[in-house]
Amino acid sequence: MKARLLDGKALAGRIEDTLRDEVQTFAKMVGRPPRLVVVLVGEMAASASYVKSKAAAAARVGIDAEVVRAPVTADTEQLVGLVEALSRDEHGPADGILVQLPLPTHIDTQRVLDAVPAERDVDGFHPENAGLLSQGRPRFVPCTAAGVQRMLIDAGVETAGKHAVIIGRSDIVGKPLALLFAGRGKGGDATVTICHSRSEDLAGICRKADILVAAVGKPGLVTAGMVKPGAAVVDVGINRVADPSAASGSRLVGDVDFASVAEVAGWISPVPGGVGPLTVAMLLANTLLAAELRM
Ligand code: NAD
Repeated sequence: MKARLLDGKALAGRIEDTLRDEVQTFAKMVGRPPRLVVVLVGEMAASASYVKSKAAAAARVGIDAEVVRAPVTADTEQLVGLVEALSRDEHGPADGILVQLPLPTHIDTQRVLDAVPAERDVDGFHPENAGLLSQGRPRFVPCTAAGVQRMLIDAGVETAGKHAVIIGRSDIVGKPLALLFAGRGKGGDATVTICHSRSEDLAGICRKADILVAAVGKPGLVTAGMVKPGAAVVDVGINRVADPSAASGSRLVGDVDFASVAEVAGWISPVPGGVGPLTVAMLLANTLLAAELRM
């Protein structure tokens, strides 16, 4: 492998070490730790596993995390009501409120997310937080986008004046990351292209990227022939694929064909162990920020 590894897991560990001290300072001053409430609807295995790792990470840095469960049969009104009750601190102080996505298909997801008050919106999905980010004065930045930028800054990958290509235009990853890259300052000042399912000549556009981020959800989408030699390749995708050799019969892969791209790229992030742990670390940072802003 020629590329250097963008080790998200190691960086997340270092971020947690810093956060642990800051959380302790907060708890001493306020008399309680910051508190995160996660709403988990239904029994989807992937969602339950993400929530479990978020709660475990919170515990490692001393943030109090509570998971509030709702049955898969809950309707939109009930979930909006639950989020409103959490916002009134009816389940204890809720500095940060997060609704684990995806919600069941019968739910109006936007309405539920809109019920999370902007100042507790640690996922950064509220229109007010999206607006602040687009104006270059971010408050809560969506965790995955923030994690990708942090990863590149930490590795010393220059973004200023460089061409960043993002595949994927979701509100959760692609769009906020484009705003971060295009913004002023460290980890920004890039020339940004967003590609999506309707983009023509995806491979040609990707080959022009100094920084290439894949956030699609399609295993093997990015191949070596799409990567400029020396480029930094960040793989946001999480896909479960069959693997008869694994004990569970499956394994996680990203959107990038890791083995071949690692021979061409200058930097590459693995899956698992890349963007995922940083997403969680950024959530913890946002929760501490929410608690601090509230005080
Ligand atoms: P999404 O489904 O909302 O968006 C996918 C995007 O990919 C869309 O904008 C779509 O236009 C684009 N797309 C689809 N097919 C394409 C193609 N053939 N060529 C180019 N673009 C195409 O997904 P999302 O929520 O942004 O998540 C994307 C992936 O990232 C998923 O695999 C998800 O599991 C993963 N994810 C990982 C983390 C993490 O912490 N690592 C966090 C969030 C999402």
